[in-house]
Amino acid sequence: MPLLKKRGGLKKLRGSAMGIKKELLDILACPKCKGDLVLTLEEDGLVCKNCKLLYEIREDIPVMLIDEAKEWNETIKTKDN
Ligand SMILES: [Zn+2]
Repeated sequence: MPLLKKRGGLKKLRGSAMGIKKELLDILACPKCKGDLVLTLEEDGLVCKNCKLLYEIREDIPVMLIDEAKEWNETIKTKDN
């Protein structure tokens, strides 16, 4: 049995080399319902599943405007599933 185990094997900490930062995500809320947002798998948008709205991220800046938001549906995968 190899004694060497990968450190933090379960953790998938990839930092924030690309896309928006975790800290930013923590402070952002849906402008409509103030609910939590989740990143899309492609990290090109933030989704409010309450409102079924997708706020696009353009050039690393989330566009948190209800008028600019797109409709979200289950075919757009998010990081929480
Ligand atoms: Zn919302």
